[in-house]
Amino acid sequence: MEPLEALREAGRIAAKVRDTVVKEVRPGARVIDLCDRTEALIRELGAQPAFPTNVDIDQVAAHYCSPLGDTSTVPERSLVKLDVGVHVEGYIADTAITACFDPGLRYLVEAAEAGLKAAMNTMRPGISASDVGSAIEQAIRGRGAKPIRNLTGHKLARYVVHAGESIPNVAGHDYHVLAEGEVYAVEPFAVPPTAEGLVMDGPQSNIYRFMKKRSLEGEAKRMLKHVQEQHRTLPFASRWVMRGFQTPTAAGSFSQLLSAKCIMSYPQLVERSRAKVAQAEHTVILTSDGCEITTA
Ligand code: MN
Ligand code: MN
Repeated sequence: MEPLEALREAGRIAAKVRDTVVKEVRPGARVIDLCDRTEALIRELGAQPAFPTNVDIDQVAAHYCSPLGDTSTVPERSLVKLDVGVHVEGYIADTAITACFDPGLRYLVEAAEAGLKAAMNTMRPGISASDVGSAIEQAIRGRGAKPIRNLTGHKLARYVVHAGESIPNVAGHDYHVLAEGEVYAVEPFAVPPTAEGLVMDGPQSNIYRFMKKRSLEGEAKRMLKHVQEQHRTLPFASRWVMRGFQTPTAAGSFSQLLSAKCIMSYPQLVERSRAKVAQAEHTVILTSDGCEITTA
């Protein structure tokens, strides 16, 4: 498949899965079911998850996915971010939507969506990332909310979710200039105006990434080979690996990969003032005079 074709296919599948599963997010729903359902649907549609489905509740802005045996459920009056990653032959689509179960927080969802729309209207070759951040910030503040300033959108490359350059959610942070053909995920996050508007590292996320090969023995060796072959440089869930290795020693072997630094663990990203967070995200390709949204 041509790269452009694969990017568009990944985008179509990601959008379809996002819009299907968000309707199943409701108070009482099990988080693990939402993660499994999203990932099964991606595979059914002929693609692969580019990263584990993130189901981020309230003050958790990013990077939570269910471990095996997760009993957590969607709380009443919550804000739930469903963040979906799809790849077709390594070409990635990354998109997120927020489900809102508190009418008083609806403005945060609208602010994040307005920020995303403003970014889409601004992005074209020759524009600096800071100008995009400025458009996002103005749109979010215009809705009476505040952007999270230490979370950003990011460039995508084949099999790489964070390929170096960023798209900030505020003005004046990043002056790199956008170029035709580049692919970015753009993701504004909105919090109430009284919140700090910053995230910090929280507990572990159950999301991991391959780092380096080491000489290991037995099951740990097989597990590392499996992870490297299956996921390459893409993030993966411990839940996926545990299901592939249903042995009494699998958890121990997984810990061995971590302590040998063959894999790294991502922390959850939590709003510092514990404010509830809304997110919106699309993936775009820079065209000659604007951008094409692959996940619309
Ligand atoms: Mn995302
Ligand atoms: Mn992203």
